[in-house]
Amino acid sequence: MVAVATAATVFATTPPAYAHHRTGTEPFLPYAQPATPPKRGCATVANPIAPTGSIPAVQVIYAWHDGDANNYEASVEQIARIVDRIDWMLDESTNYDQHINLSCRWADNGTYADYARALVVPEKIESGSNPFTSSGTVRADLHGAGFDDSNRYYLVFTDFESESDAIQCPTTGGMWCSAVVELWDSGVAGHELLHVFGAGHAWSAENGQAYFADNMYGWWDYWMLDQDFNTYYDPSETTASFYIDPAPSTTTANIARHPALTTPACCDVGFSNDLLTAQERTIEAATLTGFSFSGTGSSMALTTTRYYDGRKALQVNVNGTAQPFVSVTRRPPVTAGQTYKFFVRLRSDAASKNAQLQLGWYNSGGTLLSTSSSGSIGLLSTWEERSFQATAPASAASVRLRVTTPTGQGTFTYQLDSLLLNHCNPTCRPNV
Ligand SMILES: [Zn+2]
Repeated sequence: MVAVATAATVFATTPPAYAHHRTGTEPFLPYAQPATPPKRGCATVANPIAPTGSIPAVQVIYAWHDGDANNYEASVEQIARIVDRIDWMLDESTNYDQHINLSCRWADNGTYADYARALVVPEKIESGSNPFTSSGTVRADLHGAGFDDSNRYYLVFTDFESESDAIQCPTTGGMWCSAVVELWDSGVAGHELLHVFGAGHAWSAENGQAYFADNMYGWWDYWMLDQDFNTYYDPSETTASFYIDPAPSTTTANIARHPALTTPACCDVGFSNDLLTAQERTIEAATLTGFSFSGTGSSMALTTTRYYDGRKALQVNVNGTAQPFVSVTRRPPVTAGQTYKFFVRLRSDAASKNAQLQLGWYNSGGTLLSTSSSGSIGLLSTWEERSFQATAPASAASVRLRVTTPTGQGTFTYQLDSLLLNHCNPTCRPNV
């Protein structure tokens, strides 16, 4: 269930009923956040009610009511730090430089205290009261107070018991396209803001299998976005879109092109990176493109009944004695002496079958120099993520990615989906 823009699809993430001034636990996976996140700073200075002529940006609001009093001074820098952390998460998730455009009331004087107060606007929710004030009441109040500009995406921190939820607004803002957050940490607030940008919950496949471990599912532990570049965030190919909800939903998104974000720029250091195209990663084109096959007697086909991401995957029908190989037709460029990690999700329709991952190294003249092969991988009926890393030998200029099944295993079918080619320098993306 996903609605876009003004429809009232709400993504609630936290149960109600926390005490006043709730501080959550910051997500710490896949590795610890910095003790103090970089100050994101103001991307634009505008009147929070009438940001005429300003660029699209996020407006941060502190909401309070008489029941729990106005604790703005005690809260404002805490909120600004959380917003800075959300920006850090986005940028740190990949090797692309991308940031959130924040709207401030005035150009700050350079101190953190002044920046926080320029960023976070206090607003009293007149009809709010203890013990609980719904996010709908919060939004109605803010809308009535004039916070409803199509160039603004609102991130509201409530200082009273409410609920954390969001409404998706991938292209146009307004108060009905806002995130309300009552549990204050970057996992929850980031999760809700990513919903506003257009992300759904990261989900898996055709039959409700396990979720990805990332901010859109494991927001209490994980801060990184879409580590496979295949569900809602792909800064490397902003024209690509991905299904953000289980079938039969047809809603797609790629929040990397959201108007309140800066244009992604390659390359810096981040948790994940990828050298494949969206088609090579997700295998979603109408016809099977980007892959090659060899192995007399066996065959490769597109399947729409089994898939991990999107709505399609590759199926290999293993039959006969010749060893079958599936390869990514394009050979991505590599640098000799550097390390590369090939990820792919595999499942089998039969028990006790084995596969192997290979990195074949080619020189600039197109001659195969050597092949690095993984050990035997026992296939399961679930979509396990498999990986194999190796270092490009001297003179290597490109790499061939292959999946194969050793001979002597009889007749069976297996599927592959969700590929990724990670450049490991300075570090490989870990398996998560
Ligand atoms: Zn959610």
